[in-house]
Amino acid sequence: MERKLIAAGNWKMNMDYDQGRDLAKAIVSGLQPSDALVILGTPYIHLKNISGIIKDISNIKLAAQNCHQEESGAYTGEISAAMLKSCGVEYVILGHSERREYFGESDELIAQKIDIVLKHGLQPIYCCGEKLEVREAGKHEELVGEQVKTALFHLTREQMKQVVVAYEPVWAIGTGKTATPQQAQEMHRFIRGLLRKKFGQEVAGGTSILYGGSVKPDNAKELFSQPDVDGGLVGGASLKAGDFLAIASSF
Ligand code: PEP
Repeated sequence: MERKLIAAGNWKMNMDYDQGRDLAKAIVSGLQPSDALVILGTPYIHLKNISGIIKDISNIKLAAQNCHQEESGAYTGEISAAMLKSCGVEYVILGHSERREYFGESDELIAQKIDIVLKHGLQPIYCCGEKLEVREAGKHEELVGEQVKTALFHLTREQMKQVVVAYEPVWAIGTGKTATPQQAQEMHRFIRGLLRKKFGQEVAGGTSILYGGSVKPDNAKELFSQPDVDGGLVGGASLKAGDFLAIASSF
């Protein structure tokens, strides 16, 4: 199982309908066949339309930024995995630190979301990462290890093969502060080691582990050149086609 190199964009709560369509079109027209796999993580309102815009391009896929953990029912305002699938979505970002912080999502809840997403044939992009005080206390590996175990260790090997992991130190998200390539590599290596112990070498070696936290065109190459960094989950810089395309060709 060969791991994929991925540049995933997380648009967060940005881009109205026309802006989102134009951004997707600009990315489609600038993307080279030799670039990494590009994943656009857009607000729900764009999904169906952008799935049409990207449909003929093999190295660009669509992600949602969240999903409800139940199949369907009386959950006003929520979106199910089946609904996402019906709009052409292939990936779902789960466990982003903003969802943990502002919506109280725990790893137990995220584990349920991972299960429903996998059940519907979608691929989770599972985000984990420590806050600044945890890193300063030297407990970042312990915390990320707990997150990974709680959210992923109940999966079968076949299920784990469908998961993309994103290490996103909270102190580096939207702050302009990037983890050094060495800090990213150390944590990615640690995460891959955990996956190896639990799921074996084939699965661990084939899992794409993305780095997230202020990835920009001028730091992407050095981060992505680390042996266990298989790409990036990109927030701010994914909102500008030129910057995002530059990141997608930084491998
Ligand atoms: C993110 O939202 O996942 C992220 C990493 O944001 P930024 O690139 O803006 O730090």
